[in-house]
Amino acid sequence: MTKGIAGRPAATLQQIMMGVHEGGPSLCPVLLEVDEGIQLWDATGRRQFFNPATLRQFGALAEPETVGFEELASVCLDVGGLPFPQHEFPVARVLADGLPCSDVLVRLADASLPCHWLRINARPLYALGSTEMVGVLSSTVDVTQLIERAQDLQRQAHYDALTGLPNRVLLADRMKLALAHARRTGDRLAVCLMDLDGFKPVNDTLGHKAGDRLLQEIARRLEEAMRADDTAARLGGDEFALLLGGLKSPQQAELALQRVLDAVATPLVIDGSPVRVTASIGVTLFPGDAGEADQLLRHADQAMYKAKEAGKGRFHMFNPAVESRIRANQGLLKRIEEALDKGQFVLYYQPKVDCRNGHVVGMEALIRWQHPVLGLRSPGEFLPLIEHDDIIVRLGEWVIAEALRQMALWRESGIDVHVSVNVSARQFLRGGFDDRLAVMLAHHLPGLERKLELELVETAALEDVIAVRKVMEHYQQLGMSFALDDFGTGYSSLVHLKRLAVDVLKIDQTFVRDMLDDPGDLAIVQGVIGLAAAFSQQVVAEGVESIEQILLLLELGCDVMQGFGIARPMAAERVPGWLTAFQADPRWQLARSSYPMRGDFELLLMEVSHRHWLEKTRLALQQGTGLPLADYGSCRFTQWYAEAGIRRYGGLAEFREIDMIHRKVHQQAEALHACVQAGDDAGIEMARQALEAVNESLLQQLHAFRIGLIGSTSG
Ligand code: C2E
Ligand code: MG
Ligand code: MG
Repeated sequence: MTKGIAGRPAATLQQIMMGVHEGGPSLCPVLLEVDEGIQLWDATGRRQFFNPATLRQFGALAEPETVGFEELASVCLDVGGLPFPQHEFPVARVLADGLPCSDVLVRLADASLPCHWLRINARPLYALGSTEMVGVLSSTVDVTQLIERAQDLQRQAHYDALTGLPNRVLLADRMKLALAHARRTGDRLAVCLMDLDGFKPVNDTLGHKAGDRLLQEIARRLEEAMRADDTAARLGGDEFALLLGGLKSPQQAELALQRVLDAVATPLVIDGSPVRVTASIGVTLFPGDAGEADQLLRHADQAMYKAKEAGKGRFHMFNPAVESRIRANQGLLKRIEEALDKGQFVLYYQPKVDCRNGHVVGMEALIRWQHPVLGLRSPGEFLPLIEHDDIIVRLGEWVIAEALRQMALWRESGIDVHVSVNVSARQFLRGGFDDRLAVMLAHHLPGLERKLELELVETAALEDVIAVRKVMEHYQQLGMSFALDDFGTGYSSLVHLKRLAVDVLKIDQTFVRDMLDDPGDLAIVQGVIGLAAAFSQQVVAEGVESIEQILLLLELGCDVMQGFGIARPMAAERVPGWLTAFQADPRWQLARSSYPMRGDFELLLMEVSHRHWLEKTRLALQQGTGLPLADYGSCRFTQWYAEAGIRRYGGLAEFREIDMIHRKVHQQAEALHACVQAGDDAGIEMARQALEAVNESLLQQLHAFRIGLIGSTSG
């Protein structure tokens, strides 16, 4: 059924028009007075009738008698502010498909008109009793006020009133979009929380108005320093959130953040007073940090506190790897406590031997975790993770108690052995260590304390010399001894060492390991041995693996050693058997020296520096990098030989023989150089083998020479 205006049956468009123009029944006055624009178009889209409201809405544009809907459409924008597509204009749609089209919202592009927003409806008109469309009736309602109110509300709900920046609500929306975008593109998104440093004093001294002005200025600077599609939001007070997207690398994020920091830190003047604030920013980078939005904000918040702690005016990057380690750590702490309760810890014992006389002087107790699933775990896998937690104290006390229990058992079976126990600084310095040790000792046979040694690693904690010394002295009086473990790696100054008055220095194994190849390490080992002698301390070398190391240490004057070269740490039940079976290695007798003379030490140093050079040559060959200098003249050994060496040993024929072999070594090295330069692979291999062979005979000769010297000086 077809209907005319206001639902009345229509005849033709003409009749309708006549009704309008002639003021047909009560229709005309209504049309002229309503606020709603009414338009009547013919079937080609030409204007037939506009009521006055239409003219008010569209202004001069609507005046020409022949204006078409296209002209009206051309001044309309869609909701997003883009030109409204003409074919989508309601009149056009009705003309095209004959169906009504309702509630289309458009914005008028002409800002001088009072009306900015229109809601448009349109419907077809048919001749009475016919299916022929004779025209289109459309209406335009001014909804400007409605829309602007809604926009206001929207703004209040999404923007911060003071600064005009997005607020928390809009931030959440923006974050969703930014995360989706980052997932799509694979770019990084920096989620940042920023807090102003020094905002409160501005507020307190210059007043709230000044504080507000400052916040507005900061907001302005943030927007200026950031890219247009990034977001700066104000969360309240002096807290802001920043989203920086499209980042190709963490470095890009850092650059952008530095820009923000600089922008914030630029001084300004408020009410005649100079004001300067800085910002502390916590940052986390998605997708490296793969959390959801609220988790990312939490991480940024944690990082912001780190930035504050680290001195403000900077940013701090959240590190997911570190954080997950901390979390894993918390799990580990719990598991270690359980393991303690379930008795999963055991002590292994590693012998310490005086290689000069072949006596076993003691055992070091080393903790192991007998894990039900993972098997035997060494302390390096769990101790470092708990050394700052109180659980290390409980574990440490278990170690001492267990070592004492074992010592008592051994004593009952006739084995009276010294045992050293590692003690963490935290455990040692914690109040009450004295008393707890006394209680533990009281549980066992008297005199056991004389067989107990405590090993302390020299750490910063031991810098509290007075506290350490107080505890130490007390027990030294009871006969207990103290060792400084891993000596050479820590902080000890000579004064510190003197005040601490430990009984034993344990040379760290890293120096022992490399002393045959690294003159620096050798010098340290020799230095520690000298120090121990000067302070009347015993010296123990740890990590001794080879016979060469043992001989060298003996020559240097270090007799007591511990290491795989003598015995590996073993379970307590294996100790008695090992003690019975133990025999000193006859080769240890080869080294008979006492502390070498200065000149002889130089000879040793030259030997090591020669080994060092050869090691570098080997490495360079392996890695295809440049070989170290090969010529005889520039060699350190040659220079020493020509002066100090000749002066000291020049009268000895063996010494001059050493020089001849040394020259040969360099000839071979130069031949090797030539092959490398010519890219002659077969030649390289031959020259390398020849070099190794002649070098081996040089080392043998040097060694024999030194032993001969020792024989002649000590014999
Ligand atoms: P440390 O006290 O310096 O113990 C020596 C470490 O070197 C032991 O490692 C031992 O097995 C290893 N070692 C001994 N000889 C050799 C060798 O010839 N070559 C090599 N490569 N290594 C050798 P472990 O048992 O893994 O202990 C590591 C560290 O853990 C210890 O170093 C000590 O600082 C700590 N630790 C062990 N047990 C305890 C304990 O009960 N309490 C505390 N607080 N720390 C402990
Ligand atoms: Mg130790
Ligand atoms: Mg050590």
